[in-house]
Amino acid sequence: MTIFAKIISGEIPCHRVYEDQHVLAFLDIGPVSDGHLLVIPKEARAQLDELSDESAAAIGRVLPRLARAVMKATGATSYNILQNNGAAAHQAVMHVHFHIIPRIGSAGLGVGWNAGRLDASRAGELVAKMQAAL
Ligand code: AMP
Repeated sequence: MTIFAKIISGEIPCHRVYEDQHVLAFLDIGPVSDGHLLVIPKEARAQLDELSDESAAAIGRVLPRLARAVMKATGATSYNILQNNGAAAHQAVMHVHFHIIPRIGSAGLGVGWNAGRLDASRAGELVAKMQAAL
């Protein structure tokens, strides 16, 4: 059982901002910037790709509203949504979660972005494979 499952069940406390049938949002205990919010499905799944359409839709419905609330509460006008999947991608808690991280001055998410150049033949291969997988 993950720590977020314990938060959902009430076994562990949190600073709850929002809750509905499918979604819970609470303050991150180790904020990258003031107002750093976590948005999680109540459905216990480790990665986003495992999530049901119902939970995904429920999160999608409230994410913009929660982002607006973070902006209003902190005064931030910029923010990042971060969603890590897998330990190699910096996921520490194996329960799906979206970070809403406001940019406040120099505080906020540091992003390493190692951009390459899209190769045309590789692009064709990828599009075909992804479309076949959908
Ligand atoms: P990630 O690296 O995407 O898995 O991020 C996990 C996040 O969960 C981190 O930002 C932690 O600070 C946060 N976190 C871990 N335990 C708690 C907790 N009990 N309450 C609130 N946030 C937590």
